[in-house]
Amino acid sequence: MARIVMKFGGTSMAGIERIRNVATRVKREVEAGNEVAVVVSAMAGETDRLVGFCREASPLHDPREYDVVVAAGEQVTSGLLAIVLQAMGLPARSWLGWQLPIHTSDAHSSARILGIETEAIRASMAKGEVAVIPGFQGLAEGNRVTTLGRGGSDTSAVAVAAALRADRCDIYTDVDGVYTTDPRIVPRARKLERVTYEEMLELASVGAKVLQTRSVELAMKEKVRVQVLSSFNDAPGTFVVDEDEFGEEAVEHQLITGVAYNRNEAKITVVEVPDRPGAVGSLFGPLAEANVNVDMIVQNIAHDTGNTDVTFTVPRTDLPKSLDVLEKARGDIGYSRLITDDNVAKISVVGVGMRSHAGVAQTMFQALGSRGINIQAITTSEIKVSVLIAEEYTELAVRVLHTAYGLDAA
Ligand code: ASP
Ligand code: MG
Repeated sequence: MARIVMKFGGTSMAGIERIRNVATRVKREVEAGNEVAVVVSAMAGETDRLVGFCREASPLHDPREYDVVVAAGEQVTSGLLAIVLQAMGLPARSWLGWQLPIHTSDAHSSARILGIETEAIRASMAKGEVAVIPGFQGLAEGNRVTTLGRGGSDTSAVAVAAALRADRCDIYTDVDGVYTTDPRIVPRARKLERVTYEEMLELASVGAKVLQTRSVELAMKEKVRVQVLSSFNDAPGTFVVDEDEFGEEAVEHQLITGVAYNRNEAKITVVEVPDRPGAVGSLFGPLAEANVNVDMIVQNIAHDTGNTDVTFTVPRTDLPKSLDVLEKARGDIGYSRLITDDNVAKISVVGVGMRSHAGVAQTMFQALGSRGINIQAITTSEIKVSVLIAEEYTELAVRVLHTAYGLDAA
């Protein structure tokens, strides 16, 4: 017998027919002798609808009441799934975030889970009852309902799995696993059998939208074995696990695990920043204060004028705010002008095999160069190389790299 947490996303929960399909899958696991807790999302589109109501009610609304409204989508689906399971003859009950409770910080609309009380659900599961838990919601000190931020039910599921010391956390979604790249761009992309937490984290943060990044961070920290699979077919999914589970030889043979892209960045060049200690600090300090997440940074060598140019990227939606901040800090920084470009894309290759191989970046540069794709900025980590290119080359770059690293399916 295993204890498993099954998580179903919005598309899997959209309508009673689909909830019946979900219930059938839950029943299968129960009948195989497993103890099951289920974490559910709201029906697809429902959270957007509820957010819309809040905006319509008042553009500047109380975030505590926003959470009360948007948490409702998951309340509906958890109750409905319990009803359908019962109708199939399976004992089940819902446990809302405040009933367990799932303790969170009081950062309304982007709260963090602090701890989950599991005594009550453990007892109910031990009696053979399926526990149905709404994702996305929790309870802050002072008895206020909170939500975890969009896409947060993945994180709820991993947190429940960690708290229950579950053997597995199966995340059912509308894709059937993690691919070497976006199959819409490369039809010969392959589904990965396994991927390490670190790789998944890098892939998620650079645009592969299968799991919420925070859920992967939590899984890595708590060593929760996660499986990503589809609720619409029975194909085996992708396991997201610790590197130890791979065995050395697998890691050594596999150079690159995946190629990801992200079109949500914009490039800013600050021209003629004085080349003196503290200048870069005076530039990035105000951006940090304004909560702008700076990603890639390139600083050029000083010209003989004593000035240097600094280029970096920010999330595209933060471009206007960033320019405003930089204009205001112009006196302190002392630059001559700003150049912006939101016609860029970041392409990343990710793989733990990179640690023990030389020449990974070179393969990337050569492959892109041979197709006339110019590289505007580069960043690397131990297991990732990212380059910034003109947006119109996104698909071409992904295809070329997928082939260059031998990832195309036979
Ligand atoms: N329903 C929430 C959202 O749409 C949480 C989730 O589905 O993960 O963001
Ligand atoms: Mg999701």
